[in-house]
Amino acid sequence: MMDVAGLTISSIRAGLKAKKFSAKEIATDALAFAHSENPKTNAYLTFAPERALQAAAKIDEAVAAGAELPTLAGVPLGVKDVIVTRGIRTTCGSRMLDKYVPPYDATAVTRLEEAGAMIVGKLNCDEFAMGSSNENSAYGPVRNPRALDRVPGGSSGGSAAAVAQGTAVVALGSDTGGSIRQPASFCGVVGVTPTYGRVSRYGLVAFASSLDHIGPFARNVEDAATVLKAMAGRDQMDSTSAFAPVADYDVAMKQPVKGLKIGLPKEYFDGLNAETGDVIHTAVDELRKRGCEVHDISLPNTKYALSCYYIIATAEASSNLARYDGVRYTIRKHGDTLAEMYRDTRGAGFGAEVKRRIMLGTYVLSAGYYDAFYRKAQQVRTLIAKDFSEAFKQVDAILAPVSPFPAFKIGEKMDDPLAMYLSDVYTLTGDLSGVPCMSVPCGLSPEGLPVGLQIFARHFEEATMFRVAYNYEQATLA
Ligand code: GLN
Repeated sequence: MMDVAGLTISSIRAGLKAKKFSAKEIATDALAFAHSENPKTNAYLTFAPERALQAAAKIDEAVAAGAELPTLAGVPLGVKDVIVTRGIRTTCGSRMLDKYVPPYDATAVTRLEEAGAMIVGKLNCDEFAMGSSNENSAYGPVRNPRALDRVPGGSSGGSAAAVAQGTAVVALGSDTGGSIRQPASFCGVVGVTPTYGRVSRYGLVAFASSLDHIGPFARNVEDAATVLKAMAGRDQMDSTSAFAPVADYDVAMKQPVKGLKIGLPKEYFDGLNAETGDVIHTAVDELRKRGCEVHDISLPNTKYALSCYYIIATAEASSNLARYDGVRYTIRKHGDTLAEMYRDTRGAGFGAEVKRRIMLGTYVLSAGYYDAFYRKAQQVRTLIAKDFSEAFKQVDAILAPVSPFPAFKIGEKMDDPLAMYLSDVYTLTGDLSGVPCMSVPCGLSPEGLPVGLQIFARHFEEATMFRVAYNYEQATLA
């Protein structure tokens, strides 16, 4: 069997061209490897052998014909189970959608398949992407491949685990409040939350529509940038997808960082545990050595991000999840009246965290509380976004930790939802303001757990973000 875990997009391409292996061999070995590794982590909910082999056959035909290979030719891809795939069960980690087989593909999936990617399977996640540890999945928690007694982070825990384990070379996740960056940091892989609107949300099952993003996971910065480029850009199926042109990230990120201005927001370093802080500061020094100018900055409204997020996200979720009523998509519990059918279906189909969010969201939107909570949160959101636009007048990129602590033990925070919500203090502002941000591995905590460095850039300046990440990665490889 080939070393699937050692593959990268460029090594696959070179190997296919040199006929060292076929796409069919990659697909077969990746599927076998994913099957055999899955009992350790529970990262995959569904395997997609037919779909992967079909994609492989097309690539092998192209190789045989001597045709130009598309950018992701023969690349094993895992897809978070909140992103729909035609003919392949898509559960959103919920009992509610246990038997849901979508009739269409998300635009991101279509574009990556057109670029030659092969879908290995669908990846476990917190129910409807609500959570920070992947323990809210109706299909059991995911284990962190770097420390099996610990969580992989969430909600895209399966995506981070699959890439860290090497069963997928790249994966898709979704981020509403940190669900790509936080698991990437916990599992020691690269995770990217692009600018809001950079990647079409068509086919991403909605959690909080004004905050939801699709983004890539990969084992290095270049692979993440290649996947983003292949799926980014305007899509007429999503009116919030942007017309802004997609840059050549692969070229731009290789420019040196000398002279780039980097900001360190003080709000992200107060209260950070010392071990994580040390790792982040060492990473900043590395970039300073490469000629970055480092400035202390302030994002003063950061302290409101958590309350603001949990009002807006739950409000939107309560509306988006109203569609799961037993009539379409879902399981159904029969009742004597329509109201009983709705009640019993939702009672049986949703887990505790989802119910908590629907109740919170319904409350903050209700007459009498709307102005005090929802409208106020929207105003605060504008202030948080302004913090970033002000800061980006002074600096080109902002560096911060991703999470205040590394991966915690399975079960450790399950009884305390507020402690769980605190995992997201450093990631929420990226989603609330819509700027691109990512996590890049930057070393280990004293216990040997991965720590992620967070990089923010101006709206649609993913190229600058990748440039910082790539230069940092190269510096630390040496
Ligand atoms: N952990 C956050 C939450 O529970 C973020 C989730 C996400 O980004 N999908 O809402």
